[in-house]
Amino acid sequence: MSAMRKEGVYSRRFAASDAASSVTPSNDSPADSRFHNPTALRRASLMQEPVLVLNATYEPINVTAVRRAMVLLLKGVAQAEELHSAEVHSAANAHRVPSVIRLLAYRHIPQQSRALSRKNILLRDRNTCQFCGSTFPSSELTLDHVVPRSRGGRSSWENLVACCYRCNNSKGDRTPEEAGFKLARRPRPFTLHTSRQLMRMIGHRDERWRKYLFY
Ligand SMILES: [Zn+2]
Repeated sequence: MSAMRKEGVYSRRFAASDAASSVTPSNDSPADSRFHNPTALRRASLMQEPVLVLNATYEPINVTAVRRAMVLLLKGVAQAEELHSAEVHSAANAHRVPSVIRLLAYRHIPQQSRALSRKNILLRDRNTCQFCGSTFPSSELTLDHVVPRSRGGRSSWENLVACCYRCNNSKGDRTPEEAGFKLARRPRPFTLHTSRQLMRMIGHRDERWRKYLFY
């Protein structure tokens, strides 16, 4: 557990739609001004809105944040396929905010491209404790080694699950069988299939994503 770096703040939007949380947190404006300035607050949250990323072949490959998507557009690496009605203003220009972007050069996506991290395990497990089945904000979840490390359990996709503190404490240094716990489902690596499922869950919120995700 201690070896796993806690990755970013992404619990805020999780309750509404799981994978929107895969967007990176904003560090756009100084925290103080953001909380006292409604315009800055709106802009900061707009910059964190999820954007669907398509490969050059229109295949959906990822979800990123508006901020990152706009960098890709400005660099000429991607082009906007769908736009939000909202705009962001820089010193000289107004830019429509993208909802879907497409990479201009085809990128090969390895079958398993997700890093083993706390964030990705919570994402895979949909912020659901794998022992009691309840959903929690990220801050109230920890990672549990199904087979405890003291018993040779490894830090791997197959041995790490999202777990609430209560279950984690009562399980202690025991296997699920010893503790009388049952896993909600067998932990698996984060595959392209998992990503697709998550993209579809977010896609339900945004009309503009549908034609790329549901075909
Ligand atoms: Zn639990």
